[in-house]
Amino acid sequence: MKNVVLLGSTGSIGVSTVKVADDLPDRIRLIGLAAGNNAGLLLEQSRRHRPEAISIAEPARAAELQNAFGTAPRVYSGAEGLLRLATLPAADIVLIAIVGTAGLQPALAAIRAGKDVAVASKEILVMAGEIVMREAHKYGVRVLAVDSEHSAIFQCLDGRPSGSVRKLWLTASGGPFRDKALWPREKFSEITVERALQHPSWTMGRKITIDSATLFNKGLEMIEARWLFDIEMARVGVLVHPQSVVHSLVEFVDGSWLAQLSTPDMCLPIQYALTYPERAPSGRVRTDFAELGRLTFEEPDWERFPAIGLARRAGEIGGTLPAVLNAANEVAVEAFVNRQINFPQIAETVQRTMEAHQSISHPTLEQILEADAWARREASNPWRR
Ligand code: MG
Repeated sequence: MKNVVLLGSTGSIGVSTVKVADDLPDRIRLIGLAAGNNAGLLLEQSRRHRPEAISIAEPARAAELQNAFGTAPRVYSGAEGLLRLATLPAADIVLIAIVGTAGLQPALAAIRAGKDVAVASKEILVMAGEIVMREAHKYGVRVLAVDSEHSAIFQCLDGRPSGSVRKLWLTASGGPFRDKALWPREKFSEITVERALQHPSWTMGRKITIDSATLFNKGLEMIEARWLFDIEMARVGVLVHPQSVVHSLVEFVDGSWLAQLSTPDMCLPIQYALTYPERAPSGRVRTDFAELGRLTFEEPDWERFPAIGLARRAGEIGGTLPAVLNAANEVAVEAFVNRQINFPQIAETVQRTMEAHQSISHPTLEQILEADAWARREASNPWRR
């Protein structure tokens, strides 16, 4: 039995994690649940799973929930609540699925309290991969990937060191604008928010769906892979694979490749992270290769999707630059969704902000957060009033 704390229980990954816990009641116990503002769903999840403690963003909501529950579970709120949950004495593993930078401090707190962490929030490793992995090593805990690509690589590596790897290959669906004949570069400025939100193979949150359309999602994953698997950026490649069945591949030094395949469903990588090193039976995901017929791969289009090149540069230079890329992208996606900038301007904003930044190598957490705040101001300069 694994005692699991789930930070971000009402988001897309959180809801899938609760499903996995529903599937495996004798393997997974949800002992802590934290949500942002969706008190209704948090209440429902808590009634079903009876966690020890829960947390919600707003203190006023926390008081309402505590009244609704009586004494158990304990209800916390805000950033303090996330830290409380991340360090619950009974927790074995803390799954962090909070959007944005709010998951960073709870991740470090969990690691320092000796908990394994499962990371679904990309910001954690993109911004502070060096610190997180160093602390995990120091406290002897695991950092497990929840993302389908990193879970695939983790499964293929199966404990082999990065020295046995020639290259890690992250697969990308290519997003809704993959087809160059339909979507040549000249048409990118006509891309609407509604069109960008239609993803061909995955159903996800809004920010990550736009990130999949620009390929910034893949860029962030490249940087995550660099830290998770202790490998330099030059050995992290991207292959476009529209069917999203091969979740990623590892090319070994002897020329042999391993890949992990399945019908796309986030429950699978989540379940693997929570039951690792065991595999639990599940009927949730079925893959029929005869029906699929064929799987295809192609080189990503670096020109139409500058995100990959920008991420590669950020990952190579390191220091505070990945945090700047991440923050500028977040601001630009928000501006695109609010119709303040067009689609190509998302990558242009990120590039402009990165070029204006002086990266600090081996930064402290404080310096990373400063770079994040700076990048948000710098990125939004042209359209801020
Ligand atoms: Mg992914």
